[in-house]
Amino acid sequence: MMPRSKRVGRFIKPEVKKVEEPEEQIKVISIPEKVSIKELAEKMKMQPSVIIKKLFMAGQISTVNTELTYEEAENIAIEYDIICEKEVPVDIIEELLKEDEDAPETLQKRPPVVCVMGHVDHGKTSLLDAIRKTSVTDREAGGITQRIGAYTVSINDQKITFLDTPGHEAFTAMRMRGANSTDIAVLVVAADDGVMPQTIEAINHAKAAEVEMIVAVNKIDKPNANIDRVKQEMTEYGLISTDWGGTTEFVPVSAKTGEGIDTLLETIILTSDILELKANPNREARGLVLEARLDKGRGPVANVLVQKGTLHVGDFISAGASSGKVRAMVDDKGNKLKEAKPSQPVEILGLSDVPNAGEVFLGHETDKEAKQYANTYLQQHKKDLIEETKAKMSLDDLYSKIEEGRLQELNIIIKADVQGSVEALKSSLLKLSNDEVVVKIIHGGVGAINESDVTLAAASNAIIIGFDVRPDAMAKSMADHEGVEIKLYKVIYQAIEEIEYAMKGMLAPVYEERVTGHAEVRQIFKASKVGNIAGAFVKDGIIKKDCKVRITRDGEQIFEGDLASLKRFKDDVKEVKEGYECGLVFDGFDSINEGDMVEAYEMVEVPRT
Ligand code: GDP
Repeated sequence: MMPRSKRVGRFIKPEVKKVEEPEEQIKVISIPEKVSIKELAEKMKMQPSVIIKKLFMAGQISTVNTELTYEEAENIAIEYDIICEKEVPVDIIEELLKEDEDAPETLQKRPPVVCVMGHVDHGKTSLLDAIRKTSVTDREAGGITQRIGAYTVSINDQKITFLDTPGHEAFTAMRMRGANSTDIAVLVVAADDGVMPQTIEAINHAKAAEVEMIVAVNKIDKPNANIDRVKQEMTEYGLISTDWGGTTEFVPVSAKTGEGIDTLLETIILTSDILELKANPNREARGLVLEARLDKGRGPVANVLVQKGTLHVGDFISAGASSGKVRAMVDDKGNKLKEAKPSQPVEILGLSDVPNAGEVFLGHETDKEAKQYANTYLQQHKKDLIEETKAKMSLDDLYSKIEEGRLQELNIIIKADVQGSVEALKSSLLKLSNDEVVVKIIHGGVGAINESDVTLAAASNAIIIGFDVRPDAMAKSMADHEGVEIKLYKVIYQAIEEIEYAMKGMLAPVYEERVTGHAEVRQIFKASKVGNIAGAFVKDGIIKKDCKVRITRDGEQIFEGDLASLKRFKDDVKEVKEGYECGLVFDGFDSINEGDMVEAYEMVEVPRT
């Protein structure tokens, strides 16, 4: 035997473990919100029958498939000295988009991406226009410029990218996937109006996103402009001007006269130098979808902001559920590009579908990989959408009413060629809601009707409305199979009108009473089986087999109900007309007398007005 001291580590380890083993070991398992007995048993490394038996002893009948809540599972596990932890659901999309930081030596300087925020009417749009004009005059004037969701300007040979969508809605949408689109926020405050509610909101958004702020004090051309007042008011929100000893740049500007715009641009460059904004241009591209739409001639068009890497014509990319190969790229000045570098906004063609704004786009080595990414996204999104709808429904305070049958709902999915049409249809259709039927737009989007729309519609009993778009082949066959109704329109009012009709069909029908005839009881026959039969004479109109009756005696109503049978002599008949005799048996009424008057009526459905 080897002396103890000479033993190598490999041999020592098991011995150490052996010593520990007798010690009580507390096992920890992680389980989701809901777990079946089978799954729980697997995690606990036990036979399901043990748990089933235990529950049985506690008076609870269960099977391997019985679902337990987290708390129930926890109570069972703890009896076996097993501690439960709540399983954190994995966001597959987030996992998919995760990536390692680029190595520091690969990073190169990139232009800043700037957004403009501020209170309504303080001049965001005017300022963006004024800045844009500066850059157009810099270059060949009259060149075709186009809106691609962002534009770049140059000052002193340095570039700045401006997100072209004013307001912080865009800014927040861009953070959907947790990726910041913006480096610097220009906060526009009108010098004649000062800090207003949306100014504060904007400050909070920018702070939450940890974005550097520059204050543009706008409208300084106005006689009642007061720059110092703005500075004073901003101190309350921790934004102290540099000339007052703080760290925030305040730049007085006029979007109207153009005064101060150059200084604002220089300040942005200066700030971005301090921020040392960098990205690795030599890798596959990654960025954000700023806007996307369906162009009739060119197919899906996406305006994207490249954030890392370089995007080339011919690259395989995916963005949300869509994928494809970049067919062409155009910049904000209308120039055709072969490649786009970090911080550059471009319009791209070649995606299979219209992605959502705010979605991350990724470059891939192969077409297959791009498709795989899009597909994973689609599968995941489908689940999310369905879950989201379910959650919405149960949260909705109208839901209880619907369950009671007092209210019905019409779920609608809208797909259109442009966002504008989606919005127009949405607002018109929502207005159709009335006391009895609620219209709910459970999803609206740009692009062809696809598989995920149909899945959602099937899951939530919705109809799909396509405006100037068609279902793709997969969606169509799936809709046929699932019995999902797809309605296609080219005119908005037609869509609205049809839905309105559909809703009328959903409304509880309105019935109206219509008297069909009268009969007089002239004789009573006793029949052992059916009770008394009234031998009657039809005085006017007609008595039908399925009619309802009212019986009056000396002008007073003594019965109202159904006719149980109608006879001519011994035969059952459908109807008996004026001038004929008949035998009547009433449902639940036997004490008829000679001379009683019978009024026959029926309930007819009348169209709603
Ligand atoms: P937004 O709602 O923040 O986008 O504001 P707009 O850009 O639409 O501007 C609101 C109004 O203020 C418009 O009537 C503009 O013409 C006006 N405006 C914007 N900037 C200036 C400015 O620097 N001076 C003056 N006098 N008016 C301005």
